Amino acid sequence: MVQDLQAHGYEAFIVGGGVRDLLLGKLPKDFDVATSATPEQVKSVFPLCHLIGRRFRLAHVRKGGSITEVATFRGHHRDSDETGSLSREGRILRDNVWGSIEEDAIRRDFTINALFLDPVGGEIRDYVGGYKDLQNRKLRLIGEPELRYREDPVRLLRAARFTAKLGVEPVAETAAPIRELAPLLTDVPPARLFEEVVKLFLAGHGLRSLEALQRFGLSATLFPAMQGGGRQGKVRVGLLLRKALENTDHRVAESKPVTPAFLFAALLWQPMDQLAKEFVVNGDLPYVAVNHAAEVVFDLQASTTAIPRRFSAVTRQIWVSQLRLTKTRGKRWQRMLEERYFRAAYDFLLLRAAEDPELEPLCKFWTEAQVGIDFSQQRKRTRSGDRPRRRRSNRGNAASGG
Ligand code: ATP
Ligand code: MG
Repeated sequence: MVQDLQAHGYEAFIVGGGVRDLLLGKLPKDFDVATSATPEQVKSVFPLCHLIGRRFRLAHVRKGGSITEVATFRGHHRDSDETGSLSREGRILRDNVWGSIEEDAIRRDFTINALFLDPVGGEIRDYVGGYKDLQNRKLRLIGEPELRYREDPVRLLRAARFTAKLGVEPVAETAAPIRELAPLLTDVPPARLFEEVVKLFLAGHGLRSLEALQRFGLSATLFPAMQGGGRQGKVRVGLLLRKALENTDHRVAESKPVTPAFLFAALLWQPMDQLAKEFVVNGDLPYVAVNHAAEVVFDLQASTTAIPRRFSAVTRQIWVSQLRLTKTRGKRWQRMLEERYFRAAYDFLLLRAAEDPELEPLCKFWTEAQVGIDFSQQRKRTRSGDRPRRRRSNRGNAASGG
């Protein structure tokens, strides 16, 4: 790809996370390309590519099985009056100005994310000292930190994420403003924050992400529904949440599927459960109380992160199922085993038992109940000669390590 662009006389480099991860000896998730060619010129080199993006246009070039983002070197508006590109809080709203490679380097967030690699010549272009920072495992914002955080408050979360993911440590100037600027996150569109939460917690370093968010004082703003953990922008983190994140990290390491539904069930369980208990004291039936509490907690959380409905509906199911899992008498429990959400609900029950040993007999009941159902289906199969029926309970199996 880079060769193709170079062959047409354009400058082209691999840039960003791909270069950084290569130099750290990690396997990059993907490669982004930065080039002197404009999107239209990229299109003339790769006629089948797609031009996308409103805020800034880039080309998606498909080669082999994967899609590579090819972006033109970008400059940076600095004078808000002249260009109208900054919001009143200093956020970048429009960013589509082509620039030189140096300008493209300095508009990036951290120095370690601003390295350009020419895979043909093997040369690395470093305009911001990123190579040395990478060697020293330092995370350093390019430019004036407070200004850069204000331009795009998501950089606050990215600081925590790279700390967790890469084992780098922010230098003092980069770390200092974070706690105080945390409230800026409430200006970021909730859909974008949802994406960031997914990258923080479902990419294999969730527990370390939480630790970084806590340490930097970002968690309370990011999770307004969670109970504050005293001062300093922290939240209360129980054993259930720790275990959930630990299990999720293991699942990612084993390439098993994980879902935001289970993640949010664990993140928001404590406040939801407490609220539901209060509603019960005030006379609500348990099911009503849980549904109502779920609504309140989702509403609160929605002020920062928009949890898409397809996930929040499952989260709610996992919670409501905790009540159903207490019904072990009679025959009703057998139907529970057939529920789509059974497996996720059961995994969640196991997590709760980590905090509440009194739930252990219930866990045991459901563990044994599943052995029973496997056995009976086995018998049915051999009798009827049917193809084995896929157990519905395998679906909805979420972020826990069941
Ligand atoms: P990851 O491993 O998570 O993909 P990444 O560094 O590749 O990490 P991306 O979000 O894929 O992160 O962004 C690609 C590159 O774009 C970054 O390396 C950085 O140079 C630049 N970039 C991304 N987000 C921002 C931002 N908010 N502000 C400035 N530059 C950014
Ligand atoms: Mg990337």
